[in-house]
Amino acid sequence: MTARILVVDDIPANVKLLEARLVAEYFDVLTAADGYQALAICEKNQVDLVLLDIMMPGMDGFEVCERLKANPKTAHIPVVMVTALDQPTDRVHGLRVGADDFLTKPVNDLQLISRVKSLLRLKTLSDELRIRAETAQTMGIDELLRTSEGRGEDAGQILLVDGRANSQERIVKALKPIADVSAISDPQAAIFEASENPFELVIVNANFEDYDPLRLCSQLRSLERTRFLPILIITEQGDDSMVIRALELGVNDYIVRPVDPNELVARSLTQMRRKRYNDRLRASVKETIELAVTDPLTGLSNRRYLDNHLSTLFNRSMARGRPLSVLMTDIDRFKQVNDTYGHDAGDDVLREFASRIRSTVRGADLACRYGGEEFVVVMPDTSPEVAAAVAERLRAAVETTPFVLKPSGEELHVTASFGISSRIASVITPGQLMKQADLALYEAKNGGRNRVVAAA
Ligand SMILES: [Mg+2]
Repeated sequence: MTARILVVDDIPANVKLLEARLVAEYFDVLTAADGYQALAICEKNQVDLVLLDIMMPGMDGFEVCERLKANPKTAHIPVVMVTALDQPTDRVHGLRVGADDFLTKPVNDLQLISRVKSLLRLKTLSDELRIRAETAQTMGIDELLRTSEGRGEDAGQILLVDGRANSQERIVKALKPIADVSAISDPQAAIFEASENPFELVIVNANFEDYDPLRLCSQLRSLERTRFLPILIITEQGDDSMVIRALELGVNDYIVRPVDPNELVARSLTQMRRKRYNDRLRASVKETIELAVTDPLTGLSNRRYLDNHLSTLFNRSMARGRPLSVLMTDIDRFKQVNDTYGHDAGDDVLREFASRIRSTVRGADLACRYGGEEFVVVMPDTSPEVAAAVAERLRAAVETTPFVLKPSGEELHVTASFGISSRIASVITPGQLMKQADLALYEAKNGGRNRVVAAA
């Protein structure tokens, strides 16, 4: 993971130390000796994370953090505040001004790298979502992506696995402002709970008498239903070997005892946000794919999808020696509908026409709006005779029931013409199959419209 990190500290030796550790992990490091410099760098450069000292002359770390979070250009940059161990109130203050996480001086290597990586992964996801949201906005489809927003800061759902009643109680209390916590003391039952309920985070307190908590973590990682569920482990101070094994197993973060409630809240929020971003990203990928291949007016597939998918269907029919037919249809005198009743009425007719196609063809058929008032249905495993029968059924469905225009309730008599082609020995490419259907359609139009013509 490569990223640019800004280290802010008024003591040059502290800057050098953090810089060396981060550079050793191949991060790109910028440095600043005071708050003003830090703000200027964030404003002008692409910064992925800020490590921020609190005690600095002039402007302290709290104010720097507050200003970063108040500026729309820098608000999305994660801020880790470096606090002194003997100043627990710093963390409360830090959370209030929008800090994303804390590190305690002297900074421990393992903590530094795991915190930084955890926040950078989160930022990668949120950046991706922001870019998509901007693209969607310029394309005018942002409403679809926005529907999943707003749930952002609902109470989280956390599963706490903790062998001791008194620590369960303390942790549930600490997390109360941000989450509903289900506490459980049996690790085996926890696996079942985690796979059956929509938790957003599992916290494992490594305090069992005779159970290895890493076993639970590894089982959660290996099960299909819990594979993406974030895990935070609570360990004994100084038990670095357990932390390293836990991180290797895919545990997302850790906290050492005694648990600082503010730290617990900050870490839990980061993990839950990350899960929510992940879920939204997955949903938006699905939506983006659907949008790219769908005609927005009719909900049928679009021409781009047809152009890509026809050759797949064609090759499959060749390989299996099965028939394949194409039906091309065009609404008769559609221009008159638009000219007489307006484009909204024209859109109503197109939507209704598409709906009649949809209810006539089978699920395996590929129905597309090919452009304007022209539609194509590709029918796998369909002989020319069956294709002609389907076309005739659709022709009748269009002709016999009038189309109702929405605002006026006026009834419109609509007809359509149909051309059919099928894959036979002489047709050798998908393009030729389409061309023949097009010629047949042209013939249907020339022959007086409202009819089905099969390619010779
Ligand atoms: Mg300082």
